[in-house]
Amino acid sequence: MTLVKDIVALLEDFAPLSLQESYDNAGLVCGNPEAEVASILLTVDVTEAVIDEAIAEGHNLIISHHPLVFQGIKKLLPDNEVNRCLIKAIRHDLNIYSAHTNLDSVLQGVSSRMADKLGLINQSILQPSGRLFSLTFYTPENEAEKVRAAVLDCGAGHIGNYSHCSFNSRGNGTFQALDGARPFVGEIGKIHTEPEIKTEITVPEYLLNRCVRTLKAVHPYEEPVWNVVCLDNTNPVTGLGIIGELPAPVESRRFLQHVKDTFHCDIIRHTPLCKPEIKRVAVCGGAGASLTKVAIARKADLYITGDYKYHDFFNADNKLIIADIGHYESEQYTKEIFYELVTKKIPNFVVRFSKVVTNPVSYL
Ligand SMILES: [Zn+2]
Repeated sequence: MTLVKDIVALLEDFAPLSLQESYDNAGLVCGNPEAEVASILLTVDVTEAVIDEAIAEGHNLIISHHPLVFQGIKKLLPDNEVNRCLIKAIRHDLNIYSAHTNLDSVLQGVSSRMADKLGLINQSILQPSGRLFSLTFYTPENEAEKVRAAVLDCGAGHIGNYSHCSFNSRGNGTFQALDGARPFVGEIGKIHTEPEIKTEITVPEYLLNRCVRTLKAVHPYEEPVWNVVCLDNTNPVTGLGIIGELPAPVESRRFLQHVKDTFHCDIIRHTPLCKPEIKRVAVCGGAGASLTKVAIARKADLYITGDYKYHDFFNADNKLIIADIGHYESEQYTKEIFYELVTKKIPNFVVRFSKVVTNPVSYL
């Protein structure tokens, strides 16, 4: 039996909610975490047509990229589409989950999927953000491996293409158990010296609570000693956008045509082709105009995103080419990420792509 909370856990393992922007409302917005999931419907947006499709086909969990609800709702009347969706969803026991800016902010998220579609190699986060911490703890020698492994298995100690990174040194811990204590080693009222291992592990902010919780749960001491230090290093694997390279330079107009074909765009709005050929490409799913300067600083030849305003195009400043491919078009493949996450963990589970094209923009 697969519950809604099981699917939520595997999605948030990949894209933790703590990575979402402050204005966002990602997560389970409607439903019951304890409900059993019959099957899943994937979509970019939740619309009435998508809700109807889920009901007709018996899918009771909808996973979307854009949250259905962004702002507080004071009246639940059927006078707008969001409310009508919610009313219908509640009546039919539907669960609605969204992974939005948290999915934008992980290395294999929305923008990485765009980059994969274009064949970009050497991908890295365009604008890294998110703090890193150093977690230090002390464990009796015989228990050190078990405790270290449990913390590392939370995803801590991941550096570039290396996982399970830690530093371990030997030393002696001392303590005196007082009345009421239940010491793992030593006696009440006597100072005890215990050979211990000091372990240091780098932890991204979004994993810190989980790591400390795990450490306390598996550590044999009644009062494990641990400390956390905030580092100046930025976490290179969380943040917005992706920058990567083409295996070989491609003539600019030809590459833009390739982008148009790849994302099935009716049009691409772009700035002058100031670069004769394209090698370095920055991408950001959704509305990414705010990262133009970052793309220039990272020496991109082309920056692909959506939702550019007229004046924002001037920021290209003949230093790179901006290509606005449309908001929906840039995020349409996000559904594939959900599909892979669920079916990899739970093979044979019924997961379907919505047949509704939710893009509200058409071109004449
Ligand atoms: Zn979006």
